[in-house]
Amino acid sequence: MKKTANQSAEVITDILCDVCGASVVPNFQKEHCDNLNDFSEYGILRASYGYGSNQDGDSFHFDLCERCFKELVNKVKSMQASNGRSA
Ligand SMILES: [Zn+2]
Repeated sequence: MKKTANQSAEVITDILCDVCGASVVPNFQKEHCDNLNDFSEYGILRASYGYGSNQDGDSFHFDLCERCFKELVNKVKSMQASNGRSA
């Protein structure tokens, strides 16, 4: 015998950039996919710090559109350059 529950599964319908609010999902993807639960072709900035670090227990998660991610990449590159490291 199977027991069933009438649960509606959570479906991701869009993913928005945490910086500018634009959708990170190309329009044709949204038109051709019922849900975006498996969509992973976008920029994510993520960190979680554990015990002993200066930011003990903090965690960060930012979803980023292509444009904002590129700006972040440029920022990292300029940080590398100012530390004398070339990309
Ligand atoms: Zn953005």
